[in-house]
Amino acid sequence: MPTQTARWRALAALLRPDAWRWVGLGALVACGSGLILTGPLIVREIVDRATAGTTTGQLTRLAVLFLIVAAATQLINMAVAWVATVTAWHTTNGIRLRLARHVLGLSHGFHRRHTPGELIQRVDGDVTSVSDFMGRVIPRAAGAVFMMVGMIGVLAVVDWRLALGAVVYVAVAVAVVIRGRHRAVGESSDEMGSYARLYGGIEERLTAAEDLRSNGAGAHAMWRFVEDSADALGSAVRREKAFLRMWWAVDGSVGAGSVVSLIASALMVGRHMITVADAFLLFQYVLLLARPLEDMVDQLETVQKANGAMVRVIDLLEVEPEVRDEGTTLPAGGPLSVEFRDVAFDYGDETAVLQSINLSFAAGRAIGLVGRTGSGKTTLSRLVLRLVEATGGSVLLGGVPIEQIPLNELRRRVALVPQEVELLSGTIRDNVTLFDEVPTDDAVASALRNAGLVSLADGGIHRRLGAGGAGLSAGEAQLLALARVWLRDPDIVVLDEATARIDPATEAELEAAVARLCNGRTTLIIAHRLSTLRHVDEIVVLDHGRVVEHGDRTDLADDIDSRYRHLLELALDDEAVAP
Ligand code: ATP
Ligand code: MG
Repeated sequence: MPTQTARWRALAALLRPDAWRWVGLGALVACGSGLILTGPLIVREIVDRATAGTTTGQLTRLAVLFLIVAAATQLINMAVAWVATVTAWHTTNGIRLRLARHVLGLSHGFHRRHTPGELIQRVDGDVTSVSDFMGRVIPRAAGAVFMMVGMIGVLAVVDWRLALGAVVYVAVAVAVVIRGRHRAVGESSDEMGSYARLYGGIEERLTAAEDLRSNGAGAHAMWRFVEDSADALGSAVRREKAFLRMWWAVDGSVGAGSVVSLIASALMVGRHMITVADAFLLFQYVLLLARPLEDMVDQLETVQKANGAMVRVIDLLEVEPEVRDEGTTLPAGGPLSVEFRDVAFDYGDETAVLQSINLSFAAGRAIGLVGRTGSGKTTLSRLVLRLVEATGGSVLLGGVPIEQIPLNELRRRVALVPQEVELLSGTIRDNVTLFDEVPTDDAVASALRNAGLVSLADGGIHRRLGAGGAGLSAGEAQLLALARVWLRDPDIVVLDEATARIDPATEAELEAAVARLCNGRTTLIIAHRLSTLRHVDEIVVLDHGRVVEHGDRTDLADDIDSRYRHLLELALDDEAVAP
């Protein structure tokens, strides 16, 4: 976990791209505060001149000036609100984008630990809280600070004793808010907690309604609901009270400030230390402070929420991706060789999933990977795509260690048809191209035909699929994933049970298609159904994360002692039993 200072530094780094916008906003806010302070100064001038007995014309001119300043203040306030919102959105959109990109770049392990719902809340909900904070709280807080400093400055020019009084007043008022803050925020998070319990309880009891009713537990289940409601009410009242107390404290300090300033001014005017006009100025300024103090109370909850959100956002950005994109070596063009040198892997829970894997496949070969469920076949294929990083040893593609190849290049050269195909809501074309605009419709249709989806290609590739790809069968989805590979034309292809959900007739067609796909590429085919492996050159048998057999398919099939031959015989028996 980063320290608080590290977090502030990280926050500053997030604001830096928009630094000039924020500086502009600050200037606008300072102008606004300046104008607010100017109003009472003009009134002071009017009072001064009126008591000195000046002409009506001069007074009218000052009054008009006062009106202009008041109107300008309103205009600047509008401009501040607008610029603040736009700037906050601009900055937080940048953060949202960075966060989304960062989360997408995090490894397999991270995504196993965090649910999509949680990440959506981080990327959207939390960033919105931060945006609210930046757009509403920061400009007001800055305005209040400018105003307090400006006010003390102006009073210092008029009379140092007034400035001193103002300093004491500001210090007391701010201390009152800060002291009350802790309590109010505590009460408000208590309230959130008791509402969460209330709703959680309702949901649980509705889900279990059947059980509760059949067990005759309705009455006391209802009683729990009454208790939770009472609890929620109690904490809502406590929160309301805490906030009311703060309002009173703020209004009380403004009231006390006004009374003290009036008495002090009266005494000072009586002794000719200041003029009536100065006294008027002081009184106006004391009243002016009420607004920012009330705002402070108003925005407490936003600040608290944004604080938590900001910490979570920054902590998430600090999570280091396990797979780093730091390579710069491009492997030679054409099919690539694949080599595993003493590779070991575990998913971070101490149980070795792969151990001392030593395999070498020449470029352009087709390799069949077999083994029992859980033997590590899918994990081995993830290593070739660098979806996970080997915990020991190294994987080399075309003789280049995989971590030295830029991820872009790797993703371009290596393609995977996974065991579980994910379809996206969009057209068939979108699902094949994954929303890439570049491939032509003809190229997409021919990729579909190559994958055996002739009817889909002829039926129009702009047909929309429902959410999650509804409208295609599981087998069609697998074939569509194959079409993706065709379109991309990679140099290494990994098929993980790509034909598992296809009926035997379609499989025969597909086998020919896969044989064509293997042509000119290195292909790794994972299959339970051995008939799928009729065209491969080599066979690797995995068992409990170890290679227990590796050789030419024909040699192994001929060797009566080989595990592969044994598996083939089992498969033949199965087919013989099947009707
Ligand atoms: P199948 O034939 O059923 O697809 P497989 O050979 O592809 O099996 P893998 O998916 O590689 O097997 O799994 C190998 C081992 O790693 C299994 O024991 C499995 O429980 C474990 N494993 C797989 N994926 C994960 C994961 N994401 N997190 C933790 N353990 C995993
Ligand atoms: Mg698998």
